Amino acid sequence: MKARKSELLFRRSQDIFAGGVNSPVRSFRAVGGTPRFVARAKGPYFWDADGQRYIDFCGSWGATILGHAPNPVLSAVTKASKKGLSYGAPTEAEAELGGLIQKAIPSMARMRFVSSGTEAVMSTLRVARAATQREVIVKFAGCYHGHVDSLLVKAGSGVLTLALADSAGVPPLLAQKTRVLPYNDVEAARELFNREGQSIAAVIVEPVAANMGVVPPKPGFLEELRALTTAHGSLLIFDEVITGFRLGFGGAQGLYKITPDLTCLGKIVGGGMPLAVYGGRRDIMDWVAPLGPVYQAGTLAGNPVAVSAGLATLGQLKARNPYKVLDQLAAWFVEELEDLARESALSVRINRVGSLFTLFFNNAPVVDLTSVQRSSPTLYANLFHQLLERGVYLPPSPFEAAFLSTAHTRPILRKALKVIEKAFKKLPAQ
Ligand SMILES: *Cc1c(COP(=O)(O)O)cnc(C)c1O
Repeated sequence: MKARKSELLFRRSQDIFAGGVNSPVRSFRAVGGTPRFVARAKGPYFWDADGQRYIDFCGSWGATILGHAPNPVLSAVTKASKKGLSYGAPTEAEAELGGLIQKAIPSMARMRFVSSGTEAVMSTLRVARAATQREVIVKFAGCYHGHVDSLLVKAGSGVLTLALADSAGVPPLLAQKTRVLPYNDVEAARELFNREGQSIAAVIVEPVAANMGVVPPKPGFLEELRALTTAHGSLLIFDEVITGFRLGFGGAQGLYKITPDLTCLGKIVGGGMPLAVYGGRRDIMDWVAPLGPVYQAGTLAGNPVAVSAGLATLGQLKARNPYKVLDQLAAWFVEELEDLARESALSVRINRVGSLFTLFFNNAPVVDLTSVQRSSPTLYANLFHQLLERGVYLPPSPFEAAFLSTAHTRPILRKALKVIEKAFKKLPAQ
């Protein structure tokens, strides 16, 4: 299948957008080739500009848990948009959505709506620094929290775990306020807190890492982060931009029964529209203006159309409670994948939590960024392109999560498995 129109559109876009895209992973740099330009999407599928249909395992990076363009969300958005697209003034629907979130995730006693996950994370860091009167932020290698300056950092060498800027344009002075630890490494966290716990404002973590591929927390890891931060007067921030309303209606914190001080939500909470949320303990959120001295604002924050999409999406999730079914479906699908890999004598590790999974071409357990990086990106790229040709769309990077939605029925997944079986057989021997 020749992606002629996508190729033309990509060429045209490269004369307009930096790198031809509006977010780097869309450019296919990690797998090579030409990104597919999407014309429309419905349920588990999207169609590209050339009219080819794909079973979509990316789902707008997890936002579309009900599948693409679900009817109840479409009608809510249509209805809301007729009443105006933006007011810059508060609405009843915001309180409805906020109230729903508060009930679902009780740790979010007070919250703010913003427009992107990046903004949510950025705001939690500011509030955490203000509320603790401390500056140091701790993050984990391989976790992604949006393109916030302080968190676009990588581990430096040496025992001090001082971070180095991982993007040009991030001032080294700012990066030096961040510490980077290996995910799932309780000992490293204890050591850091012993050394400088009194200057740590907050630890930010993806409770299930899903931006280096899926890496579940080891038993005790999140518990230890909760205990360490509490003992040292630091705050624990759960970045649930992916896991919120994905792993359960109460997010990862509901699943693992751990209460963070602050939480970030995005992706699903906006039902495919630009909406994200941050919030947490009331005494901390009271630092935010106009009550407190921490400034944070947004012209389009709580946008009525986005709020209507969020309300309709959460309404569906609450009414249908699809989490058990999604978990069972994903468990079955991953087992089938593992069987097929075995039949083709491929070494793969599939990490899965609920409807999130990643297939790593790796022959050892994948528990942190170091083990993630031992996986073969070339085998993944080979698989990716074989599947793309035959109408199955995996995330265009070996180190991203794949997502199931409620629209991915067993018959559709069986079709995908047939395509994957053929592709596995054509992969070069490891
Ligand atoms: C996607 C993501 C973000 C950033 O959200 P944007 O809306 O892309 O800014 C932050 N944290 C996590 C865990 C994410 O997956």
